[in-house]
This record gives sequence, structure tokens and C-alpha cells, in this order.
Amino acid sequence: MGYFFILNFTMLNALTDNHGRIVNYLRLAVTDRCNLRCFYCMPEHGLNWLSRSELMSYEEMLRMCRVMAGMGIEKVRITGGEPFVRRGIMQFLTSLSKIKGINELTLTTNGVLTAPFVPQLKDIGIKSVNLSLDTLDANRFFAITRRDEFTNVMHTLEALLKHNINVKINAVVMDGRNTQDIAPLVELTKDLPVSVRFIEEMPFNGDSHQFNTLQWDYLRILEEIQLHYPSIQKIADPAYSTSYNYHVPGHQGNVGIIAAYSRTFCGSCNRIRVTPQGMLRTCLYDDGVLNIKDALRKGDSDDEIKMLLRDALGNKAKDGRQAELQRHDIHESMAEIGG
Ligand code: SAM
Repeated sequence: MGYFFILNFTMLNALTDNHGRIVNYLRLAVTDRCNLRCFYCMPEHGLNWLSRSELMSYEEMLRMCRVMAGMGIEKVRITGGEPFVRRGIMQFLTSLSKIKGINELTLTTNGVLTAPFVPQLKDIGIKSVNLSLDTLDANRFFAITRRDEFTNVMHTLEALLKHNINVKINAVVMDGRNTQDIAPLVELTKDLPVSVRFIEEMPFNGDSHQFNTLQWDYLRILEEIQLHYPSIQKIADPAYSTSYNYHVPGHQGNVGIIAAYSRTFCGSCNRIRVTPQGMLRTCLYDDGVLNIKDALRKGDSDDEIKMLLRDALGNKAKDGRQAELQRHDIHESMAEIGG
């Protein structure tokens, strides 16, 4: 009886979309600015950076997160742009970590400025961090990111592991750029308890280069891994996982492949995104469906915001293909959306 009640109460309290999927995960991009210039993400000269007033303020983001937590959002990932280039980020994360209902706070970072903040991240209860690292070769790192920051990123990796924070390494796989890094990145899982996830490249490059057809889809990435690690085994994918997960026997860490362009995981999508300008995206591939910042600034009450959010979730695309069909061409950078 008790279990039945708890189960029903949880389900009643859950936020769902028009396809019956539970939505409990917010990815919040706190800035569009970045201290790297990864060619697959933005042009060398950067973007037309948003002015301060165009960005959501920390107060606005905290209020939004409180409202969402009251609706069933339990997990928040802070992303960008690069979160650590925004001044005051640590104080914001600390406040966010205290919001009732947010059970998991995590972040995605390029690791350039992150190492000194790791002890504080640990203190406020951050248990897992996604670190972007496309290569283990300093020269290729420079060629991809156009910045000489490899050593700082490796310091961040060391600091995270030293503080027992779970690390997921995100590596975008790009034809002719870093496919020779696939095997060395898998090798990293031998001695380190990290999860290395290979991501299909997506067209969100701020038009810095043309995106034609995907050369390295998840199957080709898997074949490349199997060539070097024939004993690799499929392991169970956690609920809502966007990655297909694998393990090389004897290794400490795991390997994942994210079919971000093929979009094979939309059926279990549990996430929403908010861009640095406060635009809600119910799918990475949609055009933005509700400006939450505008609603907050025009004085909408919490209940009114909740209603707007429910309406938006009532119109969520079935999958990323449908969302893409409903929009104009993709010109933006991933930094403007929050990867
Ligand atoms: N600056 C942080 C970082 O680098 O982790 C957070 C923002 S970044 C936009 C988030 C993730 O998006 C990174 O792992 C990055 O590699 C990925 N990303 C950016 N552009 C991409 C693209 N065109 N295709 C696939 N992944 C991309």
C-alpha cells in the first residue's frame, strides 16, 4: 500500500511531454562565450557574443530552476559556451546546489580554467563532470581548438580524478582530424576510471565550415574501436542514456558512443535545454520554443511560467528529425545552445 502510494505520488508529480516521456533533466547554458575555438563548434573569430543584458542573469536562472524543480526537474547540467568564463559561476553553482528538488547538479566544461575550482565543486556536492577532450595529442588539440591549452585540460582531468569526481570525457569524432585518437582515448580507460564517450559530429558549427554528410557515424566508430579492442563487450545502458555503452575486459573505465547526429535515442528523451538568452528548446534540433527570460522580465508569476512550460512540453517534437524539419537551416554554434 505504502509503495503503491509513493509510486503514484511520484508519477503524479512527474513532468511529461505530449509523447508520454518523463522530462526531469535541464541543460542550462550560462554563456555563449568560450575560451576555445573548436572548429566544429564556432569560427576562428568567435561569435557575435551576447551582451550582458541579453544573457539571463544568475537571479533569473535561479528562479527558473526553482520553478522547474517544483515541476519535476531533478537534474541540472550547467554548460555553455564555457561555464567557467562567466564571472561568479562558483557562487551561482553553490546557490543552485541548494535548490530543493534538484538532486543532481553537474556540468560540462572544456577544462581550461576548471582545475582550481575542483575542490569547491566537490564541496558543493558535484559528483560527475563531463570534460571535452577530442585528442590526447597536444598538436592535434591545438589544430582542433585553435588554442594552446592542452596542459590545463589535463590538469583538470587529474584534479577531478584526485577528488573522486566521476569523469565522462566527450570526444567529437571528425574525419581527417582525430580518428587516430579513437584507440588512444579507449586506452585511457585501461588505468583510469573514466567513461570515454565518442560523439557523432553535428552541424552546429556556427557556419565555420560546411557540414555535408556524416563520415563517422556510431557504427563506424564502433568498428574502429573493435578493430583495436576485439574483446570489447556491450554493457547495459542506464535509463535515459544517450550513449551505447561498452567495456573492455580488464579496463577500469567504460566506453560510450553517442549517436548525436543519427539521433537513435529520442524515444527516451527526458531533457530540455535553456540557451544563454533564456530560450527554451525542447529538442537540441529545434529553433527555440519559448523565451523564458522575456516571460520573467515581463513579470509573469511562477504559475504563469509553469503554464508556459507545460504548453511548450505539450508540443515537443517526436524526435530530432521532426524538430529539424520544422525549422530553418542550422546556422548556429553549439555554444549558443549548450551542447
Ligand atoms: N565549453 C564546454 C565544453 O567544451 O565542454 C561546454 C559547451 S560545449 C558546446 C559542449 C559539448 O558540445 C562539447 O563536448 C563539445 O565537444 C560538443 N560540441 C560542440 N559542437 C559540436 C558539434 N558540432 N558536434 C558535436 N558535438 C559538439
